[in-house]
Amino acid sequence: MSNNQPTPAGEPASTVKFTDLALCPAIMRAIDEADYQTPTPIQAQAIPRVLTGGDLLAAAQTGTGKTAGFTLPILELLSKNEGKSKIGKPRCLILTPTRELAAQIHESVQLYGKHLPITSLVVFGGVSINPQISALRKPVDILIATPGRLLDLCGQGKIDLASLDILVLDEADRMLDMGFIHDIKRIIKLLPEKRQTLLFSATFSDEIRTLARKMLNNPDEVSVARRNTASELVEQTALYVDKNNKRELLSFMIKELDWHQTLVFTRTKHGADKLVKMLVKDGIEALAIHGNKSQNARTRALKNFKDGSLQVLVATDIAARGLDIDQLPNVVNYELPNVPEDYVHRIGRTGRAGMQGQAVSLVNAEEVKLLKAIERLIKREIEVVEIAPYTGHNETVREIEQRRAEAESKRGPRGGQRNRSSNRSRQSQSERQGAGKQSSNPNSGNNRHSHSRGNTSGNRRAAGGRHS
Ligand code: AMP
Repeated sequence: MSNNQPTPAGEPASTVKFTDLALCPAIMRAIDEADYQTPTPIQAQAIPRVLTGGDLLAAAQTGTGKTAGFTLPILELLSKNEGKSKIGKPRCLILTPTRELAAQIHESVQLYGKHLPITSLVVFGGVSINPQISALRKPVDILIATPGRLLDLCGQGKIDLASLDILVLDEADRMLDMGFIHDIKRIIKLLPEKRQTLLFSATFSDEIRTLARKMLNNPDEVSVARRNTASELVEQTALYVDKNNKRELLSFMIKELDWHQTLVFTRTKHGADKLVKMLVKDGIEALAIHGNKSQNARTRALKNFKDGSLQVLVATDIAARGLDIDQLPNVVNYELPNVPEDYVHRIGRTGRAGMQGQAVSLVNAEEVKLLKAIERLIKREIEVVEIAPYTGHNETVREIEQRRAEAESKRGPRGGQRNRSSNRSRQSQSERQGAGKQSSNPNSGNNRHSHSRGNTSGNRRAAGGRHS
């Protein structure tokens, strides 16, 4: 194995090699077949610690390779352990917040464990419980579950967790955000005191620390995610556009720039459905994925999107959590999220496994403050491109922003200075980057401030195409 393959999410390559990690030949073969050259930092840190049998508290975001970080050592431990698989009594439970994430972890378990005699099963809500009950009639070593369905199955006596060896809580921060704390507490009561517990979370918030204190026993702690850092491999652009022109602009970009596999985020389920209808009207194949869709519809949409037969998938934040699509090139924020952290999760869907990706946000005047909050969180300015014909008739978003900044500077020196320096730094960044600068079109009254920074050729083409 060579050592020069990019690691997921632009994480710096670790100096540890897979051969250093004392994994059995059957697992090494699966890693080789997956074409992983080097362990990612979370894998390099987590795998040896999990192999010791101790508890682990790990901070790692999706896209860092964390799934293999816990799955590989668990497979190793279970295959070494004498314990026999029993019907309805899993040896390892992996709890995850969403169905999609559960399905993806199951795929990983099957991939990494394909040369081992280890059995696994995934159970989640939103689909009939009966096939899951049937599947539980066979012995299961690793059970991957969402909390609600797991409790259902335990309540019906189909699963007994009393002899569990290993518990993994994946995306624990998201589980808390989604209100699963009571379910988690109920599940903990069904587990033996003596077990190995691994808790993975994007961040170590106070709530996560409290949960960790209750659930973990003298845990090792590892952290690879720089808190709320947007992936460096994702080229991020904001297109300032009037709200009523967003849909036209999106259709235009998808068609004109021949965007395939575009994941579009809306804030609400209703908004997702509405956008799909409009895109379909524009002749673009699109489907929505959100909590009101049946599991079958979600699975079908995701499958078609993954194999490239569906051009656009419109998703809400929760539905898209954990989506793992190889080489997803485009993420569009049709509406910015209210919570800046969600932006980081959204754009983390692209630029995965070392691939380049682009995230384009369509920002209207009311959303400028959300964009600022995101920039503060990721500690980086997002390139702004104005699509003049879309920004309304009388005033561009930039003009609105300048007018607000001037009003603020009149009110008090601090606010004004902040805004002026922000505008200045946008300007100087534009000058520094030089290339891609778009000249104003004197014929367009609302195009006076149009400019493009950076090298988002797609966006320049979008703007240029519209101008001509
Ligand atoms: P995760 O953070 O677990 O969702 O993983 C993100 C992506 O990284 C998945 O598509 C994995 O297949 C991929 N991946 C995991 N480990 C490695 C590795 N060591 N080298 C290259 N890709 C990896």
